[in-house]
Amino acid sequence: MVSYPDVLLFISGQWRSATSGKTIDVIDPATEEKIGTVAQAGPADLDLALSAAEKGFDRWRRVSALERSRVLRRAADLLRQRADEIAPLMTLEQGKPLIESRLEILTSADTFDWFADEARRTYGRVVPARAEGVLNLVIKEPVGPVAAFTPWNFPVSQIARKMAAALAAGCSIIVKAPEETPASPAELIRAVVDAGVPDGAVGLIYGIPADISAYLIPHPIIRKISFTGSTAVGKQLAALAGQHMKRVTMELGGHAPAIICNDGDIDAAVKFLGNAKFRNAGQSCVSPTRFLVQDDVYEPFLNKFVAMAQTLKIGNGMMEGTRIGPLANERRVAMLESLISDATAQGAKLMLGGKRFGNKGYFFLPTILAEVPVAARAMNEEPFGPIALVNRFHTIDDAIAEANRLVYGLASFAFTRSLKTAATLSHSIETGMLTINHIGFARPELPFGGIKDSGYGSEGGLEAIESYLNTKLVTQAAGIS
Ligand code: NAD
Repeated sequence: MVSYPDVLLFISGQWRSATSGKTIDVIDPATEEKIGTVAQAGPADLDLALSAAEKGFDRWRRVSALERSRVLRRAADLLRQRADEIAPLMTLEQGKPLIESRLEILTSADTFDWFADEARRTYGRVVPARAEGVLNLVIKEPVGPVAAFTPWNFPVSQIARKMAAALAAGCSIIVKAPEETPASPAELIRAVVDAGVPDGAVGLIYGIPADISAYLIPHPIIRKISFTGSTAVGKQLAALAGQHMKRVTMELGGHAPAIICNDGDIDAAVKFLGNAKFRNAGQSCVSPTRFLVQDDVYEPFLNKFVAMAQTLKIGNGMMEGTRIGPLANERRVAMLESLISDATAQGAKLMLGGKRFGNKGYFFLPTILAEVPVAARAMNEEPFGPIALVNRFHTIDDAIAEANRLVYGLASFAFTRSLKTAATLSHSIETGMLTINHIGFARPELPFGGIKDSGYGSEGGLEAIESYLNTKLVTQAAGIS
């Protein structure tokens, strides 16, 4: 039996209750029962967190890049050592199968390892001067205290991406972690603290999201905002950040097209896309949603895909063999039901699932809809659940037009054996990430992010650390007597 903690705030090197004593209940989505509470920060706590982040920034930026790298490496090691203890907490609060929780923690450890290396490579440069004796230095400096807002779908890895990059650059960071899934983020913070970050370099808060963002984003101590969540909220936060001229990274929603061509490997498409679709019960911003299948392979793909989805075991994520756990909260169930009834009313064919599973918990059957009209809401709004929409296309140009029809541009998938088609797709699809014939993104060394309404900035690769750095020019002439 795993015991779930009452989760506290972490401010200025101390775990503490909210000043007001207020808490928010935490619910197990598999049982709908209360399993614990999380402290709800108010303005007094936010002031303490801000002042700690200011002091923490002053301390952490003076730590050498080599030592920052060592701290991040130790955090990665501690996460790996503690993965078996943290994973059950994540499954209890979020619902995903235990194996996925464990994998998320190990992937987050990889993220810390990657940024441990990058911490030592925030190079500037020397630009050749126009005059003798002049030295043009381009220097990279940490941007300052960061406010990060992260969601409940990947409670640890969404924080790891922001925190590892910010710390590598020399920034301090306050994380507003998800209230629905607070315990596993708290364990991530504990690992980073045990690895040796100074007081104030990291802070952890929970509360009313809109109140906290309205307080932190305009605050002069905060110099950079990073948000992962829905496009609607992202636009509000980006607008607020713009008013106060704050640096911003936005990782927002998607509605990923998966293009399966006549010459594609259908079995590989079913396997890879099936895993990508139903992982975390489809609650992922990069989940494939619009399956666009070329005429000749439409029927075989659809049949094999339905057969594959039928084999997925649905149940409590704590039970061995579970492939699909409950949705993370009740809002998602209501949203999926309304998208499905709208699609079928408009003529979509329900091939599998389409409803809740069981009498307790937010379980939802893997759902496949075919021949879905483009006017259906599901074809336009991010379902964020285990729903696949399978439609037929005739020419590659048709598929590209459908892929680019929406305002989103996060992840895209394709299966083809033609180099020419692969090249055409890579030039034509409006997307931040395109993965062809396998699932290859979301690795720490690769850029991760979207375009259009899916946001801007990158949370992986070389690009990620750049967004936590300012560029300063120092140009100096010799010859002062
Ligand atoms: P939501 O839009 O209410 O919230 C999304 C996230 O933003 C949550 O973590 C929430 O705590 C936070 N949030 C909401 N309002 C905020 C504010 N004013 N300031 C700061 N943070 C705020 O939606 P939801 O019901 O929690 O999630 C469903 C939708 O959110 C999905 O359809 C999906 O588009 C999006 N989402 C995206 C990701 C992602 O990885 N990009 C993750 C989770 C949710």
